Amino acid sequence: MSTNQNPTTATADRPVPPASTLSAPYWEGVAAGKLLLQCCSACGTLRHYPRLLCNACYSNSVTWQEASGKGTIHSWTVSHHAYHPSFAGDLPYTLVTVDLAEGPRALGRWRGPLPSIGLPVVGSFEARSGGFDLVFAPAA
Ligand SMILES: [Zn+2]
Repeated sequence: MSTNQNPTTATADRPVPPASTLSAPYWEGVAAGKLLLQCCSACGTLRHYPRLLCNACYSNSVTWQEASGKGTIHSWTVSHHAYHPSFAGDLPYTLVTVDLAEGPRALGRWRGPLPSIGLPVVGSFEARSGGFDLVFAPAA
């Protein structure tokens, strides 16, 4: 994973997720260009996005593991509606749901030609005003 400059221009500040002790390691990883997954300390199940309990065994004990950023497209859509004014300048934009190589799914922006289900991709973080966006592009 790495960080790049965002080629788009935002027209308003993006909403900022509330800080919490639960998600702090994730956001620290994002700032360092790393996609961190939660790993259940009890059963080893990986999960993404950060949440309190393991969906396999309900343990709240967790460690963090860096994802490779590699995966394949599970699904994708083109958004033509801004659900927040800060996204209006980006319309239309493509979102992809990616099956990460490690197992969990992640949602991100798409950078590339028309995506297709099953396409191998690689993720990175793009810097923007106030934060970073997880973006995926076709794997080389
Ligand atoms: Zn577990």
